[in-house]
Amino acid sequence: MSSLALYGGQPAVSPANEDIFHWPIVTEEDETAVLDVLRRGAMSGTDITLQFEKEFAAWQGMTYALGHNTGTAALHAAMFGCEIGVGDEIIAPSITYWASVLQVFSLGATVVFAEIDPNTLCIDPSQIEQHISPRTKAIMVVHYMGHPADMDPIMAIARRHNLKVIEDVSHAQGGRYKGRMLGTFGDVAAMSLMSGKSLAIGEAGILVTNDRKIYERAVAFGHYERYNDTVQDPDLSAYRGLPLGGYKYRMHQMSSAVGRVQLKHYDQRTAEIRKAMNYFWDLLADVPGLQAHRVPTQSDSDMAGWYAPHGLYHPEALGGLSVTRFAEAVRAEGSQCSPGINKPLHTHELLNTADVYGHDRPTRIAFSDRDLRQPVGTLPISEEIGHRTYSIPWFKHYRPEIIQQHANAFRKVAENYQELLADDPGDPPGLGGWHFYQQR
Ligand SMILES: *Cc1c(COP(=O)(O)O)cnc(C)c1O
Repeated sequence: MSSLALYGGQPAVSPANEDIFHWPIVTEEDETAVLDVLRRGAMSGTDITLQFEKEFAAWQGMTYALGHNTGTAALHAAMFGCEIGVGDEIIAPSITYWASVLQVFSLGATVVFAEIDPNTLCIDPSQIEQHISPRTKAIMVVHYMGHPADMDPIMAIARRHNLKVIEDVSHAQGGRYKGRMLGTFGDVAAMSLMSGKSLAIGEAGILVTNDRKIYERAVAFGHYERYNDTVQDPDLSAYRGLPLGGYKYRMHQMSSAVGRVQLKHYDQRTAEIRKAMNYFWDLLADVPGLQAHRVPTQSDSDMAGWYAPHGLYHPEALGGLSVTRFAEAVRAEGSQCSPGINKPLHTHELLNTADVYGHDRPTRIAFSDRDLRQPVGTLPISEEIGHRTYSIPWFKHYRPEIIQQHANAFRKVAENYQELLADDPGDPPGLGGWHFYQQR
């Protein structure tokens, strides 16, 4: 009989060790902080949020932090902060969650997608300049699934072409690139802090910048109640009392209260995650076909809280076995594995045909002087990457015996790949998802 659990063998992972995955870690300290807000009826206030912002800015080593009710809102405000407006273009990776980019449409702007690097899964710096046009205003960088984007060449390109850089740090809060914290390279950074992320505080987002003008524009955009205290810019001060964007983006104080507590413990807790995740990959270092998605362990870059960790897959080393069949066999072993990552945004109809605002043209090119849509075939790595990636378990604790069992599940399936070839159905088209979060 086969040793593979899919064919009746003993599963590699013993059940009932789910606690190793539980996140965020909530203690009485979080509960007390939330109850204080609730009992004071201060949910819509700003006193706790202002403290959280101060602590967050200090932690990031940045001058200004501005809390938002979602990461989507924080990124929207960052775009407005950079004066992205009608006819402008941003350059972004196609492999990301939609909220890295879609908000540009509401500003009258649009997005051009650049290819990703198949090892980092982040925007490939060598594929940016070809997309720069006279209308390009900014590069949107995403530190994808914890991996820092290659910031040195990206910043050099931005300087050369006088472009703003916005960092979307939703997957990598607290991570480092060459010793320096992510979110401190660009003109502004914004990120989600929602419950599925590694810095998980509720439904929330935050923007950080050293640029007073960007900060004031972000306040003016969605924080009417803070206009008086913050906005000095003469171009903005006439509009006191109403939000320029017509948005209300204030952070919920039950989230900022949790945020203050979570932030205090975050570096220590993510250090344990990094130890656990690196251990998992070290155990698999010699397995054919499987490659870690991580920075070199002996470097001064790191993978932050390893949000939504994934592995790279080389079917050529496994007789062409599809990642779909591979993942199925790993799940049968009792571990967690699903094929693919985010689907490439440029292939979605919203980026091609949708006329969201009634311009009588697709929104993507509503204000464009050329058809900058990118049909299938134009970004081959992004289009194929779903067949070369799979999720891995996201360990929150360093518990070697449990991690070994999961690593064994992956090893066993890869080493016995030949047994799986006969009834491999192959990958369906369009592997991956538009989003991953499983609501509880
Ligand atoms: C989650 C996420 C966002 C949006 O954040 P929300 O808080 O869900 O609005 C933006 N960008 C990326 C890359 C994300 O993963």
